[in-house]
Amino acid sequence: SSKNAADGGSGDVRLSGIGKTYGSFTAVHPLDLTVPEGSFFALLGASGCGKTTTLRMIAGLEEPSCGSVRLGDQDVTHLPPYKRPVNTVFQSYALFPHLDIFENVAFGLRRRGIKSVKKQVEEMLELVQLGEQARKKPHQLSGGQQQRVAVARALINHPKVLLLDEPLGALDLKLRRQMQLELKRIQTEVGITFIHVTHDQEEAMTMADTVAVMNGGRVEQLGSPTDLYENPRTTFVANFLGTSNLIEAEVDSKSGDEIIVTAGDGKLVLPEARCAAPTRTGGKVLVGVRPEKITLSHADDAGEIPVGRNRVTGRITATSFIGVSTQYVIDSSVCPEFEVYVQNIDRDTRLVAGADVVLHWSPAHTFGLDAAQD
Ligand code: ATP
Repeated sequence: SSKNAADGGSGDVRLSGIGKTYGSFTAVHPLDLTVPEGSFFALLGASGCGKTTTLRMIAGLEEPSCGSVRLGDQDVTHLPPYKRPVNTVFQSYALFPHLDIFENVAFGLRRRGIKSVKKQVEEMLELVQLGEQARKKPHQLSGGQQQRVAVARALINHPKVLLLDEPLGALDLKLRRQMQLELKRIQTEVGITFIHVTHDQEEAMTMADTVAVMNGGRVEQLGSPTDLYENPRTTFVANFLGTSNLIEAEVDSKSGDEIIVTAGDGKLVLPEARCAAPTRTGGKVLVGVRPEKITLSHADDAGEIPVGRNRVTGRITATSFIGVSTQYVIDSSVCPEFEVYVQNIDRDTRLVAGADVVLHWSPAHTFGLDAAQD
């Protein structure tokens, strides 16, 4: 079927030791990365981290300084872009302004000398839900619609991999959210590999099966969105993907598969498997917990907290109602600005600024990071 562009063997994208230097500047340190065939993969990181350069090396738009790019069993490292079974969608849609939508999408087929394009183009326009707009010119469409034309145009030649370089960067927030779901739907429908570059963590988390978080030309961590969020292995990843409370602690002892640490005048427990720091006694570790994993209790109720929970005392310094939840800032014995988000079911009216509180959470939701690493 024309929708299954991945026919013909394994189509994993394999980067082996691929790197890029500009003079003495290293934009991408040699990295190994496998993008499974048919997955939605995101390269996520702040501006300048090397994600676009990585994408462009896959596209063939940038010559790697070292390493190789394989697509399935084909080494494409030295192939020009147009000979690779990939296509790229850019932030600037780069549509042909004088051609209508139909002809924009048909372009790739016509260039290959294909005469009867109608059925394929119509199918593609259906896929991106622009069947009604075929005879309009690009300037008559909204930004989101133009971007969908760009996607249709890139998919018409059935690439094995679609590369997307900040494709939603020019759209306003509401439209961007719609387009995130739309691109995800299109990817599921065509079933080919999408590699998506973005600096927006929410975007990467919403769309991707697997996210590679990049920092300083390196992949810091690779994983599913939930894995990265719940199990960050570096402070960069912990802070880049949402808010985390990081508590300075010192390794006290081990007990089974758990680490016990001293923080302030208390002790906290975390699974050894979730500790990315060295675990020798006396070693420094940053203990983290996501704000919504914490339960907040008024100090008067602290006696009811079950044993086996991590607990910290503090005082509320600020609260703000943010719709579905309330955000509390707590000055605690171990962290001056502890953030806690509480869903607004049975909100305790005593939890106001100035109240003495106890925070508690499960050791299973606790992670440990290497304090020494930057
Ligand atoms: P952005 O989101 O801003 O595009 P990015 O994470 O995609 O950032 P890259 O575009 O991959 O980052 O660039 C990585 C680094 O390489 C940056 O510091 C950039 O300045 C540098 N760089 C990119 N292209 C060149 C070039 N042609 N010559 C010199 N340095 C370059």
